[in-house]
Amino acid sequence: MSDLINRRDAIDVVNSTVESLKLSDKGRAFFEKIVSGIYDIPSVRSRAIVQGEWLRADYDKVRCGECEALVRIEFHSSGCARNFCPNCGAQMDGGGMYI
Ligand SMILES: [Zn+2]
Repeated sequence: MSDLINRRDAIDVVNSTVESLKLSDKGRAFFEKIVSGIYDIPSVRSRAIVQGEWLRADYDKVRCGECEALVRIEFHSSGCARNFCPNCGAQMDGGGMYI
């Protein structure tokens, strides 16, 4: 799996590095090519992963700690399921109660 980084943050790092150095025109041109190369890298749409937890709400329901959606507890052959909230997509695999 590839790491995703924010293009704008990468360019800001390069630009702040360039500003911190006393570069010749040739040196600045080198870094401008790097920034241009960063712009040319294909992008993907992504969103930050929100880590949530299930909170017990009723004998057969849990509540999402992020969006407060009520979800009926369902057991599958693995004994637990739904490692994400079906309402907001929060990941529930980092601890707390599994359903
Ligand atoms: Zn949720």
